Amino acid sequence: MGLEYLVIVFFFGLATAIVGRSKGSSFFIWFLVGAVLPILGLVAVVLYRVEKDEPERQCPTCTKALKLYVQVCPRCGTDLYLPDPAAVRHPGVR
Ligand SMILES: [Zn+2]
Repeated sequence: MGLEYLVIVFFFGLATAIVGRSKGSSFFIWFLVGAVLPILGLVAVVLYRVEKDEPERQCPTCTKALKLYVQVCPRCGTDLYLPDPAAVRHPGVR
């Protein structure tokens, strides 16, 4: 039982670390997170975003710059849908 738990924890840590590494974060740190919090750590790394690489667009109502995944504008409350691709800025791409 104890050994099985260690094996499960190891693979959760490994999976979490691989996802974290692919997002440009630390393999070692995410391995620890995944091993200490086997399911939560994996969920966290999947949801983890590298803010600087996130595409942006402007709110059509108040022109506030927002991340693409924001669904409601925090300034004016406008419901946001996926914008015209031409209106999306990709900070990492020139
Ligand atoms: Zn707005």
